[in-house]
Amino acid sequence: MKRLILLSLVVAAIFSFNMISAEAASDTIGLGKYPVQVVAKKNTELKDEQGKFIKTVAKGDKLLLQAIKGKSGVIKYSSKSAYISLTDVHYIQLVDGAKTIPYDEVAAKLKLVSAMYPSLTKLQEIGKSVEGRPLYSLKVGTGDKEILLDASFHGREHMTANVLMEMIDTYVKAYVNGTKIEKYDVKKLLSEVSIVFVPMVNPDGVTLSQGGKVKTSMIKLKAMNNNSTNFNRWKANINGVDLNRQFNVNWHLIKKTKPSFKEYKGKAPNTEPEALAIKRLIDRGNHLAYVSYHSSGQIIYWSQTKTKFSRTKKLVKGVSNITGYKLMPVTKKNEPIAASEDYFTKVKDRPAMTVEIAPFAGEASVPLKRWNNVWKQNKTVGLYVANEARNW
Ligand SMILES: [Zn+2]
Repeated sequence: MKRLILLSLVVAAIFSFNMISAEAASDTIGLGKYPVQVVAKKNTELKDEQGKFIKTVAKGDKLLLQAIKGKSGVIKYSSKSAYISLTDVHYIQLVDGAKTIPYDEVAAKLKLVSAMYPSLTKLQEIGKSVEGRPLYSLKVGTGDKEILLDASFHGREHMTANVLMEMIDTYVKAYVNGTKIEKYDVKKLLSEVSIVFVPMVNPDGVTLSQGGKVKTSMIKLKAMNNNSTNFNRWKANINGVDLNRQFNVNWHLIKKTKPSFKEYKGKAPNTEPEALAIKRLIDRGNHLAYVSYHSSGQIIYWSQTKTKFSRTKKLVKGVSNITGYKLMPVTKKNEPIAASEDYFTKVKDRPAMTVEIAPFAGEASVPLKRWNNVWKQNKTVGLYVANEARNW
């Protein structure tokens, strides 16, 4: 029996997600166009490449981080690189949600926040996109209980990644400063319930929609886009599969179509690595609730749990009250169809919802001018769901 337990532990260890290894983290990660201003939280040392002391940085001094190298932040000092311990500084602002946030920025900022706050956060690579972009989850909090929030399943809905990145920025800052966000004592709450964020499920689709560089041939992509070069409207992953029609819940009920910028369900469930990464995260995780962020309609879809009717209803109503988004009725017409939220409800029998953050923007991404409202409406959603889950 003991041997069996040991064997299953070994197997679990082998199949557990890849932690971002210390070795990989020692490579320099440039923040490039997205330098981050930080402030020293105590007197600390600035060192050169060889680790030699350059000067003391006083508590309260501000510096501009250009890159991260292992556990150090890299700044420019007399036109050379100088290094400071990342655990000796706080960031002032991690992201600006009012601007478009590309995948490279998401990846760099997640690495930065995890290097700055190693005891509060845990970064994991949960898979890779079709074009090989690592997919990241970031757990924020030290609580044993967990909830799951993800965003940007659909390329053009990339403002949803801004929502989660801004939550990470705001919640981590409140945690380390010991401040409240509205009624929530963030440190106390996240010490009981951690939030697992996956800010960008579909980085290839987002990159294409944002006009960034992708590896897939433009001829192939144009053919899947009705011969249009308007890629801003792209929803699918780079294979032309809609990642939110990939889950094995009534998948067969969706009409067969062909690869397209939107709404193609794929040849079978779970063929696409991005959807599979979320499926595995759900399967292996013990998340008490799931919120999947999308961007069209200012409405909330939800699925009925088998055994937790009142808990589910209360939670989705609560999010509806905070955001002002309309709660969709759960009817035959609205039956679960192959979305990640449907899958979570089916396999976990726990509350899940799809939150659509903005009015329908047509076949396009959400205009940036909507951001201020969107953020106001969603700022406390992660804290609210975590707070509800405390007593479950
Ligand atoms: Zn969507």
